[in-house]
Amino acid sequence: MDALKTMVTRAALLLLALTLGACATPRPTPPRRDTAALRYNITYAREPQRGLEVEIVLLPSSPRDFLFRQPERVETVWALREDGASSALRLHGGEVHVPSGTRFLRYFYPLESPSRGGERSFFSGVGEEDAWHVAGRAYLLRPRVVPPDLRVELTVDGTDALLPWLPDDAGVYHLRGEDLVDSGFHGFGGRRCEARVGASVLEVALLGRFTHLSDSEVCDWLAQAGREVVTVRKTFPHPRITVRVVPVPGADEPALFGMVQWSSPPSISILVGQDATAASMKGDWVAIHEMLHLTHPTLLPRVAWLTEGLATYYTELARARSGRQTAQAAWQELTDGFARGQASAGSRTMAEVVSREGDWQGVYWTGAFFALRLDVELRRVTHGRARLEDVLELLATRGPTSSLAGFGAAVDTVAGAPLFDALLAHQLSVPAFSDLGSLLDRLGVQIDPGRVKLQAAPDSRLREALDGGRPSDDAG
Ligand SMILES: [Zn+2]
Repeated sequence: MDALKTMVTRAALLLLALTLGACATPRPTPPRRDTAALRYNITYAREPQRGLEVEIVLLPSSPRDFLFRQPERVETVWALREDGASSALRLHGGEVHVPSGTRFLRYFYPLESPSRGGERSFFSGVGEEDAWHVAGRAYLLRPRVVPPDLRVELTVDGTDALLPWLPDDAGVYHLRGEDLVDSGFHGFGGRRCEARVGASVLEVALLGRFTHLSDSEVCDWLAQAGREVVTVRKTFPHPRITVRVVPVPGADEPALFGMVQWSSPPSISILVGQDATAASMKGDWVAIHEMLHLTHPTLLPRVAWLTEGLATYYTELARARSGRQTAQAAWQELTDGFARGQASAGSRTMAEVVSREGDWQGVYWTGAFFALRLDVELRRVTHGRARLEDVLELLATRGPTSSLAGFGAAVDTVAGAPLFDALLAHQLSVPAFSDLGSLLDRLGVQIDPGRVKLQAAPDSRLREALDGGRPSDDAG
């Protein structure tokens, strides 16, 4: 992949961290099935205009202040009283107040993509004919303040939908208020395939046509990425997730852009070149990168360099552990990335690099370098007994969110000694990548002009343990 494309895509991927950073705490408790305080009836319409007709049924106890998180395509919301009288409500900055006595709210969300494939339409709607991708937050009007016990029912008619959640046997989604806040990505229409990873299932919506790829080849590609996640975590982190795949006309890149959006469970969407081939999909890193974000908790407040660093670091190791790329190729990718990060960082310290908004190369690759440093240090102080994966495994038992301090405490628990704070303080204070050379020397990674060579060195066994995966007896 060329440097510019990598930069653009990784820059786009940073949006992920912004998304995760803003999310509310997801709770794994199942929804209660008693009377809902809000009901959303969504109908996919083809005529006279393609779009989503949304009706919200209110009870006297329902909230009265609503908003569009991403106000863009809806100008008017209609309020209907029980007696049939209706009035148009104006939106102010995406917010609307519902007069008392209102029984129904109705609005129309048009599905059209004037600038197909752009980042903006990735949220507000991208698709063709009757296959559409849209972010829940773009089209769902939701209460401005969501009471913690708010119960919501949601139905979709007129097409096949792939939402982050599972409906009941009657096709009704039973949601909690938080599901309207972190509503993930939604797919309407298109085709479906399914990828299995151990006991987990990836439900996939194919939202458009490919010129070379078959549907099962798309699912094979995602199953491969899912299996690579299991070289990092003992099992796939969720029993079921949904993935929407959107072909982009005039492109043959395996994957152009991907994002995890917070919902419970998280939802993934990926743009793929319409002319991509099964052979080119083997070189893709976007799907595994996105799925690796499922292996760590959401950090609140957001620590993009750490979450992106973990995903970036493991993207290369996991593809080597699965055999999709050689160990040499993995270290080539890592050292190429470190070189781009170093070029971007110049003489600045890591603390300066990660505090500058928009320096994606710096943020991703100082983060990946820190992940490598931390992994090596953990293995060294425990004589190979512990590794960075054990930290993720421990954090997974502690819930879906954590913090930088919580992450550090988990590192120290796994190490059996204080390690994290001192290592982080050191890395933040010295020029970024200043100890890269000595670390690579010890690992036996030699950067010859144009090509990385792996050789015997004091820590070359440790390096082989990094890229070689878990022992087969606990590969899960
Ligand atoms: Zn990422």
